Amino acid sequence: MTLASLGTPLTPSATRALLLGSGELGKEVAIALQRLGVEVIACDRYANAPAMQVAHRSHVFDMLDAAALRAVIEAEKPDVVLPEIEAIATDELVALEAAGVRVAPTARAVRLTMDREGIRRLAAEELGLPTSPYRFVDSLDALTAAVAEVGLPCVVKPVMSSSGKGQSVIKADADVEAAWDYAMQGARAAGTRVIVEGFVDFDYEITQLTVRHVGGTVFLDPIGHTQVDGDYRESWQPHPMSLAAQQEARRIAGAVTEALGGWGVFGVELFVRGDEVLFSEVSPRPHDTGMVTLVSQPSGEFAMHAHAVLGLPVHAVQPFPSASCALLAEGEGIPSFHGIGDALARPDTDVRMFGKPRVSGRRRVGVTLARGFDVDEARARAREAAAAISVTFEAE
Ligand code: AMP
Repeated sequence: MTLASLGTPLTPSATRALLLGSGELGKEVAIALQRLGVEVIACDRYANAPAMQVAHRSHVFDMLDAAALRAVIEAEKPDVVLPEIEAIATDELVALEAAGVRVAPTARAVRLTMDREGIRRLAAEELGLPTSPYRFVDSLDALTAAVAEVGLPCVVKPVMSSSGKGQSVIKADADVEAAWDYAMQGARAAGTRVIVEGFVDFDYEITQLTVRHVGGTVFLDPIGHTQVDGDYRESWQPHPMSLAAQQEARRIAGAVTEALGGWGVFGVELFVRGDEVLFSEVSPRPHDTGMVTLVSQPSGEFAMHAHAVLGLPVHAVQPFPSASCALLAEGEGIPSFHGIGDALARPDTDVRMFGKPRVSGRRRVGVTLARGFDVDEARARAREAAAAISVTFEAE
């Protein structure tokens, strides 16, 4: 369905978009929607979340609560609902979609990708795409047996977790119990299942941003990235790939996004070894490693997502060599940032501060962005800029 026209915000003609999840990625999507004159309603479980600060209005509630989710959507009557996180009552979204609510890209895509099991089984078992060997288990005994089948080393992750929470590598049989305990601590839901998968000794990993829109499918240039403990630290675009690996990456991304359907940006995560490409997972929304596209191209992944979900066309672009570096803050309280001027002293360097209202433990609070003559220069600039910024905390 194409939205035939765009209205005027805060009037009865408004085109309304409702964001489920208001973190840093949702904030950039909200800004992109604001630029089109869309009325933006931001939701999250805490007040003053980043996207709420740039939305027309917001709602604070637990998005895993099906009744609360339905009540907000029925009251707001959005033209499109954009899930920006995984912890949502997705069965309720499926029911709402069946009753005529538009969910981007589709409620089924959001449900299948909310945990690792749905998407892994779709990719590997239904679509026959290459992945590492894997098993899903829900007890320590089953994990011990699965590790024997998958082989060492292997990686254990809760089926519902993000940013590396609960994820660890098992190198020897003696590590199995600790990996199970760690996964249970890091899981989003108590008593969760875990995936154990063969450790892939990849040459590099990429995010293949893929945009499904009214005019077809667009593949962006590969984004290389580094992760520490399952959490993104640096990304850059374009990442050099052999033609064969690039074609295989696009084949896999095309197949999995077609199966998920709908319009929007998808972040397809792939491991590459020589010309061999393995599917890892996919976000049916802009991807954190894709923040580099805020500087690598005139219209980044967030603007592309806004256009695609509204039924507007999206075009592929040639990126400038660019990089992003995550800013992590560790501590307790309300953060203040110092050294931003030093960070911006480098040419072609920029920052995005997310405006998260508080930090407890380790949290991603911003990102530096840079262009360069090549990705090496861009990465060095982004890293140096990040190193120039320090954080202090005030008690609440
Ligand atoms: P995920 O949350 O599944 O995206 O995992 C986060 C990061 O952990 C990935 O981007 C990889 O760097 C690493 N990782 C996850 N699974 C594996 C694996 N099977 N083999 C090697 N590294 C992995």
